[in-house]
This record gives sequence, C-alpha cells and structure tokens, in this order.
Amino acid sequence: IKKESVKEITKESKSEEVKLSHPDKIIYPGDKITKQDLSNYYTSINKWILPLVKDRPLALLRCPNGEGKECFFQKHIETDDMGILGKKVESKLKNKKEEIVYIDSQMGLQELVQLGTLEIHSRGCRVDEIDYPNQIVFDFDPDEGVKFEKVKEAAFALKEILERLKLKSFIKVSGGKGLHVHVPIAPKYDWEQIKSFSKSICDQMEREHPEKFTTNMSKSKRKGKIFLDYLRNGYGASAIVPYSVRAREHAPVALPITWAEAKKLKNANSYTLKSVPKLLNNRKDPWAGYNKLSQKIKILDQYKSLSA
Ligand code: ATP
Ligand code: MN
Ligand code: MN
Repeated sequence: IKKESVKEITKESKSEEVKLSHPDKIIYPGDKITKQDLSNYYTSINKWILPLVKDRPLALLRCPNGEGKECFFQKHIETDDMGILGKKVESKLKNKKEEIVYIDSQMGLQELVQLGTLEIHSRGCRVDEIDYPNQIVFDFDPDEGVKFEKVKEAAFALKEILERLKLKSFIKVSGGKGLHVHVPIAPKYDWEQIKSFSKSICDQMEREHPEKFTTNMSKSKRKGKIFLDYLRNGYGASAIVPYSVRAREHAPVALPITWAEAKKLKNANSYTLKSVPKLLNNRKDPWAGYNKLSQKIKILDQYKSLSA
C-alpha cells in the first residue's frame, strides 16, 4: 500500500462506513459478480469470518481488475503511517521487524474489498504473538488427475493420526482443488517446532503410503500423488482464511465443514459467493469452539522437558 492510500484508509476507517469506489464494477466476469456483491457477501457472513480473520497478520491477494486479470500478493504496509490496517510487529526469534496488514472489525473487511482484495490469507498466529502460532494448517494438494475421493481419504487419515495424539482437528474446502485441516493449538511452540511437528506427521503418512503421498514440493515428484503441504506452518507463511472467497472462476469459498459433511463431499470448489450466505442461515457452526481450543502437543512437551 502506498503512503497516500494508507492515509485514505485511516481517514475512512474513522467514518461510519467504507465507501466503495466503483461498486458496480464487475470483478468476476463469468458470473457478473460486482464489487458491491463481494461487499454484501462479507457483510452477510461477517459473524462467521470475523473471529477467524481478526487480529491475524494477513496476506492479501489483490486483483484491482478482477478475477482472471493481474493480481498481486501483499503482506506488508510499506510506510510509517499507521492505519487501522497496519501494525509494526517484531519477531524476537527471527530478529526481524515487519509492518503487517491486519483487520479487527467488520469495517476492516469492507476496507479489504475496497482495496480490490479477492482472497484473504492469514498466518497461523495473532498479531501480538507472531513467533508462536496458535493453529496448524495441513494443506493437501492433489496432482492433476488424482480423484477427489483420494484427497478425502488423506484428510481422514490425518484426522486419525491427530486423534491418536489427542488433537482435535477441523476441515475446510480450499475453494480450489484441495482440503485443509486446521488444528488450533496453544501459542507456546515456535514456528520451527510446529513446522517439524507437521512435517513429521506428513512424513509418517508418506512412509505408510508412498504410492499415494509425497512431502516433496516439486511437481515432478507429485505425479499421480497428493502433496502433503506442511509448509503453511513456517514463519511468514499463510493459508486462505476460512470463509474467504477465492480469485477463481465462479467465486468459490474456502468453507469450513464438518467431518461428516466431508464424507459426502464431491469436490472442493462448489461452495460459492452466491450459495454460501444462504447455506449459513440457521447453520450450526461446524467449527464450534475453534477459537477457544488451546491444545497442547504432548510429544513436543515431552521433547521440551527432555532437552531442558
Ligand atoms: P488449492 O486447494 O487449489 O491447493 P490452496 O489455497 O491450498 O488451494 P495452494 O497453492 O496449495 O492453494 O496454497 C498456496 C499458499 O501459498 C496459499 O495458501 C497462500 O497463502 C500462499 N500463496 C499463494 N500465492 C502466493 C504468493 N504469490 N506469494 C506467496 N505466497 C502465496
Ligand atoms: Mn492447497
Ligand atoms: Mn499448497
């Protein structure tokens, strides 16, 4: 964000509402979805997304000319000016200062829409505790041609492993090709610990089924397999925020679902900006208790006490 636009944000944040420039601009050409439609989407699902997006460092995929046009990924505010969307944070462990983007209100969501944000990604930590993640994200990325049933199987296999470690997990569709499994944790382990923990779980899955899974990021090693992407769990890494729309055809949504719903799922991208608000009416929260769950990882506790 340029200095001027940060000032603009700061100014607008103080007013009651965020005024959209060009509300009638079509941002999803395939479905004629406008900027106003996107704003209305976030207004109508506000109570679902806000607890999962607020006070986290964000990474915005901004597409000023809409889906299918040029987009850019933004994690930082590049100015000293402090708007509602910017915060200076310091990683003690990385000895690094950053000026991250975040929101803490419904108005913040509207500001993101105004900025042309088509995807809201976040880190797995809070803005005031950037060295200690409070969620782990496992991202399952199928190679072309891998049946969706297989991606589901992978997610359920992970759920079982986590259950054996007494960890409760939550599932969402990515809005793209894959599934994401979230594990809320106590913010007491650093990124290195969480990344090696999630890698060791993915390694175990790969050892059990090398014909199905790979932990190697390279596309050539992925042939016919599912890439178990544990790399969402490193310092500075991000994943799509639950309930965020994606910058893909038909405006699919990264939707939290129950494990029971996951059983019947046919793909990861058929919940959309158009269908989700209705679906959420009278819906029981499939991720109930997510933010209150502060799980400890027993094996890491043991490791810590051994090395202490
Ligand atoms: P799918 O189910 O289709 O894989 P996904 O959201 O999991 O959807 P991935 O490609 O697996 O997409 O994940 C990429 C991750 O990397 C995103 O979650 C995002 O946070 C991050 N990312 C995406 N684009 C960029 C970028 N340009 N620069 C840095 N990180 C990015
Ligand atoms: Mn993915
Ligand atoms: Mn991935």
